[in-house]
Amino acid sequence: MLGIGLIKGLSVTLKNLFSPIFTIQYPDKKVGLLAFSKHINKPILKILQEDPKMFVMGLVRMATIPVKIDQFPRFRGNEFVWYDDRCTACASCAKYCPLGIIEIVTHESGENMQAGENYAIDKFDIDTGRCMFCGLCVEACPYDALHMGTDFERSSYSRVDLVLDKETLTSQTKNPSSWFRPQFESKEYNPWEKNMSNSKDAGRHEKPSDQKIKENWVNKRKLDG
Ligand code: SF4
Ligand code: SF4
Repeated sequence: MLGIGLIKGLSVTLKNLFSPIFTIQYPDKKVGLLAFSKHINKPILKILQEDPKMFVMGLVRMATIPVKIDQFPRFRGNEFVWYDDRCTACASCAKYCPLGIIEIVTHESGENMQAGENYAIDKFDIDTGRCMFCGLCVEACPYDALHMGTDFERSSYSRVDLVLDKETLTSQTKNPSSWFRPQFESKEYNPWEKNMSNSKDAGRHEKPSDQKIKENWVNKRKLDG
């Protein structure tokens, strides 16, 4: 029938006109005075005394607060989380990277000679500006020292700023992604709720206790024998 298409189209428009709004304002959203005072944890009267301009903005629902959009725990952001105390400088991550963008420089430390000597790490750089976030480096790490990160707000005007160097990797907040890390999922860890600052929590391969070693290598052998 002539005009049926027009009615169908208008019915879709009408349906959407009265459905809930799901637009998310990002990176900031406009809020009223109450929400603003809750966000900065200050009473409304204090805002009036200290920042009258923001008070007026809040009155007309134009005060802004940042929005952090939560992602899934396995989300891979454009950063990495590195635990220097778990890293042996074996360079497996650098060898597996198809783009060759992980640079590791080491020197002999003179420590732990009996076990074959440890390496001291002078440089550990990842150029995230060239990274495709395939995660092969994370899969290759035998010691759970390197993890995909979850931060995605690292845009910059300069390519140099996209290089994650040893100092940045060591000092930044650690919110690793649970991608390729089943041990995180078994602990129901959610990077959007808390960070994982203790490197022990990040690993699967902890040194077994003396009791465990005895069970596996002495008691079990006696039984098998
Ligand atoms: S995620 Fe892929 S491209 Fe990026 S550093 Fe790791 S291996 Fe290289
Ligand atoms: S593979 Fe892991 S342990 Fe080896 S150098 Fe890379 S981060 Fe360190």
